Amino acid sequence: MPELDVPQLLELDRRHVWHPYGPMPGRAQPLVVAAASGVRLRLADGSGELVDGMSSWWSAIHGYNHPVLNEAVREQLGRMSHVMFGGLTHEPAVRLAKHLVDMSPDGLEHVFLADSGSVSVEVAAKMCLQYWRSLGRPGKQRLLTWRGGYHGDTWTPMSVCDPDGGMHELWTGVLPRQVFADAPPAAYEESYAEQLRELIARHADELAAVIVEPVVQGAGGMRFHSPAYLRVLREACDAHDVLLVFDEIATGFGRTGALFAADHAAVTPDVMCVGKALTGGYLTMAATLCTARVADGISRGEVPVLAHGPTFMGNPLAAAVACASIELLLGQDWLAEVKRIETGLREGLAPALGLPGVRDVRVLGAIGVVQLDHAVDMRAATDAAVREGVWLRPFRDLIYTMPPYVTSGEDVARIARAVCAAAREG
Ligand code: PMP
Repeated sequence: MPELDVPQLLELDRRHVWHPYGPMPGRAQPLVVAAASGVRLRLADGSGELVDGMSSWWSAIHGYNHPVLNEAVREQLGRMSHVMFGGLTHEPAVRLAKHLVDMSPDGLEHVFLADSGSVSVEVAAKMCLQYWRSLGRPGKQRLLTWRGGYHGDTWTPMSVCDPDGGMHELWTGVLPRQVFADAPPAAYEESYAEQLRELIARHADELAAVIVEPVVQGAGGMRFHSPAYLRVLREACDAHDVLLVFDEIATGFGRTGALFAADHAAVTPDVMCVGKALTGGYLTMAATLCTARVADGISRGEVPVLAHGPTFMGNPLAAAVACASIELLLGQDWLAEVKRIETGLREGLAPALGLPGVRDVRVLGAIGVVQLDHAVDMRAATDAAVREGVWLRPFRDLIYTMPPYVTSGEDVARIARAVCAAAREG
């Protein structure tokens, strides 16, 4: 095929390529990216570069084209790009598992290397349901979550996404019927904690697990809540024989100002999902970690194995770059970098509160959110950000950013200006 110019690319893209939550043929005209380096995306039409305010959806925490991560992939490529994981193992996967066990909340000991965040949530659900089956309690097969959540686009994750006006409302009545609590309030409220306790107690006989995004609900609404609720969940789950799953796919690896959001509450879940920033955004990999209790329970069952084994499980390239990304993160004062971005976003986003149509501005760690009192005009808001030289992807009533941790102070200020411009014009 000859090289394609930008108009040809866009025409073929429109005709043949599905984009996330997109129609076919495509209607929105995507920007064509030719290359990415540091925190900048270079556009193929020659119009210049954009500072990435999205970290490619929470993942590129060290920026793009990073020499250390590039080298990790290159070096592994020289050894092997992939081998099946059934009956074989290799150093990148083993090293990655050890890193994850060492850095995650105490008590998480076993690691399933999945190939996307959604699959890691499927695996988490399977672990929990199978655990109770193994213990002779097959009736415990539902999940409890709170509204406003998002856990992915495959079947089980969709069933625990926000059921009201959420992204998967189309499947109401077809998806497994789960139990929903109200979305958690931002501050600690004893009456809400009591509601959680009561709901868990009431449904305990049919609940395999509670699954939540700790501290930050991401794609379901970019809401923050008190870490104290995580302790409430831990205690109620322990009291009523229910497992606790934290989905740290978005919040993991420092984003909220703790290595994992669970650390804000010093709570260990029974199962934890990570993904996105796991490989520094280089390759597709996620992981499901669990405690010895969960693994032992499964091993004592009639079917004493976890029956899940994707073809690309433990991919060595992804595992190698994940190890390098984790070593890069832990080898620096990552918290200082995240706090630096937090301060920059607080300062830069403060003026947004005075804008007409802005309902709320909130910042936590390297996450900044401006919430409007109306649905955002995505095209107008995106164009306003692009005019400021920044890439943002607003949705619903939200304009938000989670920059790479390597974003300079100047670029954080620029991102904040772009968020404000998008809020004004969107
Ligand atoms: N859980 C959370 C909290 C997420 O933010 C996402 C991705 N937005 C997922 C699960 C699904 O991950 P993936 O897109 O890699 O399947």
